[in-house]
Amino acid sequence: MAQSPLSMDTILATLHGMYKPPRSFLDWQNPLELLVATVLSAQCTDARVNIVTKTLFEKYKTPEDYANADILQLQQDIRSCGHYIHKATFINRTAQILLKKYNGRVPDTMEELIELPGVGRKTAAVVLHAAFDKREGIAVDTHVLRLSRRLGLTREKTPQRIEIDLMRQTLHEEWGNLNTLFISHGRAVCVARNRKCGQCVFQNACPSSRTKGKPDLAGIDPSVSLIHIKK
Ligand code: SF4
Repeated sequence: MAQSPLSMDTILATLHGMYKPPRSFLDWQNPLELLVATVLSAQCTDARVNIVTKTLFEKYKTPEDYANADILQLQQDIRSCGHYIHKATFINRTAQILLKKYNGRVPDTMEELIELPGVGRKTAAVVLHAAFDKREGIAVDTHVLRLSRRLGLTREKTPQRIEIDLMRQTLHEEWGNLNTLFISHGRAVCVARNRKCGQCVFQNACPSSRTKGKPDLAGIDPSVSLIHIKK
């Protein structure tokens, strides 16, 4: 674990004062919709997913709808989210498992969720926090990964190892909020390219602050996503 001059408590308290993010940036009405939307969001923007699900959720309302779907049609329905062949298969197989094993409901534990096709710890943590108000992990997406490294909260490079570092430093009650707060700051100020350190509330203490002549501790090409689709 890296030693940041900024404590996680300070960072989160500051971000809470700046942003009031929703529990998820994805549009959803029930756990099934959130699960589908989160699977679709792998290597795709939330904005694009929200456009696609606006019509998708009109057409597919139940696990049966996805389980019995014409797979080629489902692929076309989600095509613009990218990786649509894999994602359609994941959603179709997940729906079949929900029907067979969970009586059509979305399970509400990390252990059960990560057994579903296409569902890794990031997706599971998002669903658990937003849909069930449960915190069994921290969702490490591209923004959380970048900000955690820049702020000196971790030296790790993989989402799995970064999540462990973050869980050690973060009050359990904040595990869900961390993701949406870091996304908010990552979109507004600490952007992937040309981070806006001159506008950042952390610029005096941040170990990646441009205004202090510090290097970018993200240390990776910010255009390269480290979040892979679970196959
Ligand atoms: S000072 Fe710069 S690198 Fe550090 S969190 Fe702010 S924008 Fe990101």
